[in-house]
Amino acid sequence: MNEFHNNRYDVVVVGGGPAGLSAALVLGRARRRTLVVDAGEPRNASSSHMQGYLSRDGMSPAEFLAAGREEIARYGVELVRDRVSDVARGEDFTVALEAGREVRARRLIVATGLKDELPDVPGVAERFGRDVLHCPFCHGWEVRDEPFGVLASSAASVHQALMVSQWSKDVTFFLHAVAEEELSDQDLRRLAAAGVAVVPGEVAGLVIDDDRLTGMRLADGSTHARSVLYVGPRPVPQTGLLQKLGAEMNETPFGTYPVVDATGLTTVPGVWAAGNAIGFAEQVIHAASGGYRAAAAIVGDLLMSELDAAV
Ligand SMILES: Cc1cc2nc3c(=O)[nH]c(=O)nc-3n(C[C@H](O)[C@H](O)[C@H](O)COP(=O)(O)OP(=O)(O)OC[C@H]3O[C@@H](n4cnc5c(N)ncnc54)[C@H](O)[C@@H]3O)c2cc1C
Repeated sequence: MNEFHNNRYDVVVVGGGPAGLSAALVLGRARRRTLVVDAGEPRNASSSHMQGYLSRDGMSPAEFLAAGREEIARYGVELVRDRVSDVARGEDFTVALEAGREVRARRLIVATGLKDELPDVPGVAERFGRDVLHCPFCHGWEVRDEPFGVLASSAASVHQALMVSQWSKDVTFFLHAVAEEELSDQDLRRLAAAGVAVVPGEVAGLVIDDDRLTGMRLADGSTHARSVLYVGPRPVPQTGLLQKLGAEMNETPFGTYPVVDATGLTTVPGVWAAGNAIGFAEQVIHAASGGYRAAAAIVGDLLMSELDAAV
């Protein structure tokens, strides 16, 4: 193969998390020349276990991705550890990699995930994914019946405080930066019905003993014994490449995401997106499924364009 053909792929998948690897598996098995470019910073990297994925419940996220990488290699898919720094639209897409390589792609899948912007409370970032959690579906069962704290980021955090009461009857809602008056009568009634204690006042930090969360320290000096803290990170979708390509975006209270159809096709012809790059609530199983859908749509799209060109 000459250099032009060597650097030209049917599909470049940006991101090698569950969405990107799942897409790559389908593309490889459909005999499409595919490159995955992965910066190697999956969203759940801080967590030692992954829950709720049927047949893989409890597996480590790193092990899950390693298995995926091994599977795509069987079908000739290439994977490079690099970051896509730029993309441009032409007859093919031109994809620039941070390390300097430039490749061309007939179709693109953007599976770049999202970043969690954590509340600025000392200790929260260090313990995220361990005993500072964000999602009871991911980590609720494992800490069931323990004393939970919930750190309010806004009045909308009431929903999280109510939800986690499904997993423990000992929940304290720390209002932190939220004034008590911001809670509606319905909020207060529901919190009371769920048995959630409401504690006003700023949270100054976490109490850690022997590398375990044991409590919350408030600015007034008081401490509250808790072994689990739920927080509500601000989702920051990694959609810069899609915006660069001119994809229509949709602003939501949980970040700005591309407008996509049921297969993940964006408003830019030839560009699909999947996983947390299209929505903050995409769990691992959804991300993998979204990657599959996008890949299957691309396989059909490439074939039709080749047949049309041949007649
Ligand atoms: C602490 C924590 C625990 C969680 N636990 C669970 C759980 O138990 N069960 C569950 O179902 N879900 C869980 N989740 C959610 C889960 O992390 C996401 O559903 C999943 O990661 C989404 O997959 P993705 O492929 O869309 O994105 P990611 O897994 O984030 O993968 C995106 C990949 O793209 C790469 N990337 C980004 N930009 C570029 C670029 N420009 N060039 C190249 N590569 C790029 C990133 O480095 C990353 O490797 C958890 C999340 C967190 C934060």
